[in-house]
Amino acid sequence: MRQKYIAGNWKMHKTVSEAVVYAQELVTALQDEKDKKIMIAPPFTALRAVSEVLSGSNIILGAQNCAPATSGAHTGEISPVMLKDCGVKVVILGHSERRHLYFETDELINRKVNLALKEGLEVILCVGETEKEREEGLTEKVVGEQVREGLKGISEELLSYLTIAYEPVWAIGTGKNATPEDADAVHAYIRKLLIELYSTKLASNMIIQYGGSVKPNNIKDLMAKENIDGALVGGASLTKEQFVPIVKYDRD
Ligand code: PEP
Repeated sequence: MRQKYIAGNWKMHKTVSEAVVYAQELVTALQDEKDKKIMIAPPFTALRAVSEVLSGSNIILGAQNCAPATSGAHTGEISPVMLKDCGVKVVILGHSERRHLYFETDELINRKVNLALKEGLEVILCVGETEKEREEGLTEKVVGEQVREGLKGISEELLSYLTIAYEPVWAIGTGKNATPEDADAVHAYIRKLLIELYSTKLASNMIIQYGGSVKPNNIKDLMAKENIDGALVGGASLTKEQFVPIVKYDRD
């Protein structure tokens, strides 16, 4: 039985003081959610302060990106070692905004995934097709390639520290979300691919989150699907009015 994993990607939102206040509210509101894995990913500037707020709670700290190197001449970058030093446990890699706004390639993302895992961070690897690719019937081809390339060189053992997030680009921040059936079909495809690349055991243990306009009113139907094991939430992770009911989707 795979544990449900709900993660909030705050993107480029909240100052340090806003992040601290909000994280404290979430710690209080979600303290009884012991069965799920819960993660929040504030911007880099707030990581250290939020780490102190989350200490001893059931919410783990995530980062939204990292460099493909541990240290050195990489102006403007943050290494996985530095993230760990700030109390970060998980890093989101390959988010569609990194792929499309900052032109990150599968090759670069793969280097980041390898290094982050080697340095002892967990990883959420994001994959997903654009609207045009979906219309052209290329969803499986595109997602398949992102999974294959993203996981290159990673051992089955290290993959137990990795989660895949299927996030169709056309559903991110748009209010359009994939139907639970459409999302489940892509998740099932990813699981089938993992059997080919690794093993049935690995594929059935892999947590695959859905991301793309997840809201309190659609989370329950998404989570009811066999292959959907959690959610990576963007916009709706920014307020407790939306994020708390998303995490508590199975209560009453
Ligand atoms: C995301 O940023 O990963 C995301 C899914 O955003 P949103 O929930 O706002 O669509």
